[in-house]
Amino acid sequence: MNKVEQSTTGENKKSLNFIEAIVEKDLKEGRNGGRVQTRFPPEPNGYLHIGHAKAICIDFELAEKYNGVCNLRFDDTNPVKEDVEFVESIKDNIHWLGFEWGEIYHASDYFPQLWDFAVKLIKEGKAYIDEQSAEEIAKQKGTHTTPGVHSPYRDRPIEESLKLFEKMNSGDLPEGAMVLRAKIDMAASNMHFRDPIIYRIIHTPHHQTGTKWKAYPMYDFAHGQCDYFEGVTHSICTLEFEVHRPLYDWFIDQLADSDYRPRQYEFNRLNLTYTMMSKRRLLQLVEGGLVSGWDDPRMPTLAGLKRRGYTPTAIRSFIDRIGYTKYDGMIDLALLEHSIRQDLNAKAARVSAVLDPIKLIITNYPEDKTEMMSSINNPEDESMGSRDVAFTKELYIERDDFMEDAPKKYFRMTPGRETRLRSAYIVKCTGCKKDDDGNVVEVYAEYDPETRSGLPGSARRVKGTIHWVSVPHSVDAEVRLYDRLFTVEDPANEKDKELAEMINPDSLKILNNCKLESYLGDAKPGDNFQFTRLGYFNVDIESTDDKLVFNRTVPLRDSWSKKN
Ligand code: ATP
Ligand code: MG
Repeated sequence: MNKVEQSTTGENKKSLNFIEAIVEKDLKEGRNGGRVQTRFPPEPNGYLHIGHAKAICIDFELAEKYNGVCNLRFDDTNPVKEDVEFVESIKDNIHWLGFEWGEIYHASDYFPQLWDFAVKLIKEGKAYIDEQSAEEIAKQKGTHTTPGVHSPYRDRPIEESLKLFEKMNSGDLPEGAMVLRAKIDMAASNMHFRDPIIYRIIHTPHHQTGTKWKAYPMYDFAHGQCDYFEGVTHSICTLEFEVHRPLYDWFIDQLADSDYRPRQYEFNRLNLTYTMMSKRRLLQLVEGGLVSGWDDPRMPTLAGLKRRGYTPTAIRSFIDRIGYTKYDGMIDLALLEHSIRQDLNAKAARVSAVLDPIKLIITNYPEDKTEMMSSINNPEDESMGSRDVAFTKELYIERDDFMEDAPKKYFRMTPGRETRLRSAYIVKCTGCKKDDDGNVVEVYAEYDPETRSGLPGSARRVKGTIHWVSVPHSVDAEVRLYDRLFTVEDPANEKDKELAEMINPDSLKILNNCKLESYLGDAKPGDNFQFTRLGYFNVDIESTDDKLVFNRTVPLRDSWSKKN
């Protein structure tokens, strides 16, 4: 958590996270000429997830805070898995979170420079073409306690490697025929220095460069060099890249012709309980039909969270709360849910919706009368005003707000007891009607005209208050209730379980017969509301004028932690 400190001037000042502290130290020491430049470098091989939001926030917020620039760079070095669909969704997501990049770059923009650099390394005797298979190369890697074995091609003539490197890019060779390796140290304690592969052959056309290239640089050979070409000062990534950092620096030392160096810093990746954070695994969910798509509201993708009703404000305040550290850990999904409740509590209008309706008839209320009851839109925000809600003889209430034989402490509808209908009257339940199978089909009550909300007589108090919707004024809707997608806390760690086995069968429940107050008839996709007593809901993108569809973003309270 970010701490709030009292500064000497008495104003509240948030303490710096460790990356901000590094940047401030660099600025103080005049490093990089006082320049701060970051980049967000997604591989366009899937939709961004909430983990990426953590990287986006630090990259863009650092640039904003220190008058620098953050560029967007598509790390597109593997055409097999990449696609323009992903490029577009990534751009949308960043804008949605409220950030603006300086320039858009692609690793593929630098393919010519990377090629020239590889040629330079070959000429200096620092790279060679290896004709062994990937398996053979892997076998020779050695272990943490034993050195690797030299490839039989390691000392081949420079001229030969130069010719073969050209050939790798000609299209005449099948994939896997040969690779280019950096010639560093097969006994290095850091395994990444044991003659890493830096180029491989791929025949799949590239979404940016088409069929121009057949030899593609590996991530480690592209990333740091791209940072260098662009002038990045602080290259921020997740902790798993810490062990790659010496190689990152090694390549740049071979390339640099001045004192300028981009520097890599690593922070803890976001892991959330009951969620999975890998584009590869999320793709499996999509392709396996286990979810309806990348924007399924149960997905941890930004597209899914947006569709579910999450706001950029909630996501950014969540990221701010969890902070940046040097230690990996697991964050409770409940914390993300807390953030969206907090934001929507401040912003969402309170409305009435009955998800599992049963009719309530106020037997002593005039047949053709309609009263307009004033209802405050949001007690947290006076400026949101109030609206009139129609009250009539026939209302819908929730089926479970009636109980024929109720225990003593049940303060909702049960024969002989009084309950308040929210923003309206106190009513006394008088009974119910059942069908031949014994199911309750209608509930009856009498109202007390002296108890209208807001009038002097309304001072009389009863224990329970329930919500309702006027039958003639109601609109129909489908409401989709979501729950956590997986039944296990850390699905990525369940190595022997199939994804399908871990899916929570109750993660989606569709209610088809919901009755909403007429105010919601005009709601548009994306609008957020609090359904009184039920939770926060938003209008789904599949909603039309003919058929309203709502998503439950989150219930009002965290029921899971209590249940389990
Ligand atoms: P995935 O495994 O989900 O595909 P990735 O690391 O391969 O993730 P990239 O597109 O390469 O995804 O990542 C872009 C940036 O986002 C990188 O800097 C990466 O470190 C960061 N990032 C990815 N996942 C997380 C996460 N869970 N938490 C924080 N940052 C992340
Ligand atoms: Mg990646």
